[in-house]
Amino acid sequence: MTATAPREEQLWSRCAGCASLLYRKRLRRNLDVCPECGKHARLGAPERLRQLVDPGSLCLLPDLLPEVDPIDFVDVLPYPHRLTAARAGTGLPEAVVCGTATIGGHPAALAVMDFRFLGGSLGCAVGEMITRTAERALDDRIPLILVTASGGARMQEGALSLMQMATVSQAIAALREAGLLTVSVLTDPTYGGVAASFATNTDLVLAESGARMGFAGPRVIRQVTGRALPEGFQTADFLLRHGQVDMVVQRRSLRGRLAALLAAAAPGGRPARPPVPRQEPASYRERLTGGGPVVDATRGAPVDGSPQPAGRDAWDTVRIARHPGRPTTLDYLDSVFDGFVELHGDRLGGDCPAVVGGVARLADRHVMVIGHQKGHTTAELVARNFGMASPAGHRKALRLMRLAARLGLPVVTLVDTPGADPGVSAEEHGQAAAIAENILALTVLPTPVLAVITGEGGSGGALALAVADRVLMLQHAVYSVISPEGCAAILWPDRPAAPQAARALRLTAPELCRLGVVDEIVPEPATAAHDDPAETAQRLRAALLTNLLPLLDVPPAILVRQRRQRFRRFGAARAGTRAGAR
Ligand SMILES: [Zn+2]
Repeated sequence: MTATAPREEQLWSRCAGCASLLYRKRLRRNLDVCPECGKHARLGAPERLRQLVDPGSLCLLPDLLPEVDPIDFVDVLPYPHRLTAARAGTGLPEAVVCGTATIGGHPAALAVMDFRFLGGSLGCAVGEMITRTAERALDDRIPLILVTASGGARMQEGALSLMQMATVSQAIAALREAGLLTVSVLTDPTYGGVAASFATNTDLVLAESGARMGFAGPRVIRQVTGRALPEGFQTADFLLRHGQVDMVVQRRSLRGRLAALLAAAAPGGRPARPPVPRQEPASYRERLTGGGPVVDATRGAPVDGSPQPAGRDAWDTVRIARHPGRPTTLDYLDSVFDGFVELHGDRLGGDCPAVVGGVARLADRHVMVIGHQKGHTTAELVARNFGMASPAGHRKALRLMRLAARLGLPVVTLVDTPGADPGVSAEEHGQAAAIAENILALTVLPTPVLAVITGEGGSGGALALAVADRVLMLQHAVYSVISPEGCAAILWPDRPAAPQAARALRLTAPELCRLGVVDEIVPEPATAAHDDPAETAQRLRAALLTNLLPLLDVPPAILVRQRRQRFRRFGAARAGTRAGAR
């Protein structure tokens, strides 16, 4: 051994993923992500903060001098000795570093846990520091970001550490009540009491690529069940598939992703830069429609007399509404909106592929967009369950609607579903109640809601996204209580009668406008949307803006009252007819 050997070792480190020997400086430049296999090495809190926040913006909160040993705990070593060793080893007073900073120019309060310090365990001092960070966020009216890395509650502080789960959660509840965004970033590993409190009860949960999160650790589960665990159990991708996290983010994208989410949650859902000056309503129309046809909201007919294809049969419209080339929600998210950040999962065990949602910009205003997703090819349709939402899909939508209301974001829904998933599993998981809950939640949601029937508006599954202040409908979309086939099978049992049923159901846009179910028709180009998706997108965008902007000025209480009146009138109309007939 030569004298240079130790220094050589410090220059190199071995990847825990692929065992490659890596030059440390190169690894650090790559944010401690292995350039060979992509393994994200664990980061201490100071390095994590350095990677996440804008340079020079970090302002640390004062450290606490914690009570050293609240229950005089002794195992093989007295607890104070372990604390002293952890402090010496990390240079940190405790297992969390807290402060305020900006990310992409947006202010936030941050608490970042450090696994090196007694396994990032949650003791009284850690709980108190995170709580104070949350309270600081509340005082400053800024979002809170928690970066978690923890084995769980700190045993050496007994039940007092268990109580920290409640203490911090309470502070998060206050931020939710105040409409301030809370985000947790799960890093490897996040377990036990931290996982079962502030790591997952925030508005948004991001998982760093490769991070594992769970309540019980894999060793315990193996012992208890006596079974081998599935490949990738509790990893970020597993969590995404099972609806536990909004997204999995590579370390190099984390800062940008957080900046985008903070931008969406900025006051009024608007970007940090000055808002676009408001225009007069008349010039809006001209500017936004770009000379395209404008629809008379009261009658639903194109006011410039652009052709409503004469005598098109309702059954033909059904077929156009189902055309595989028809733009989908993801197509519109690409063409009508900007900067879509998709949010996943119902937090209860599922992420339904038939419903997509997230924050996006519509002409520089942030909105929450939620829609059914079908597809253009058979493979896409199968992967998306033909746009038929499971209970997990409805619960994901519900979660995003409520998040939008808390953050003051308007909700735009794009409805295109043959109906809710009619499968066995859907029934087992409470499909009916999931739809019912969404209808209820939308009825009282204290933020503008704008729904667009873009393709098929199938029954309760459609209404679960369509209790709105304004309901728009693309010209060749359909909206119905039951599919024509379903109706025909029940009422015309002897012969195939779907076309007759389609006519009888009054499911086309002009007829629904007449009935008041729909407020406005968005004209489609040429023969239909699938012939010119770009033009369709432009018209949809214009219609969204024309309808959304006036709603932004209405106080939420009045908005909700008017929305309830809008849906109350259908019962009144029916009763009136009956009274008149008597
Ligand atoms: Zn590697």
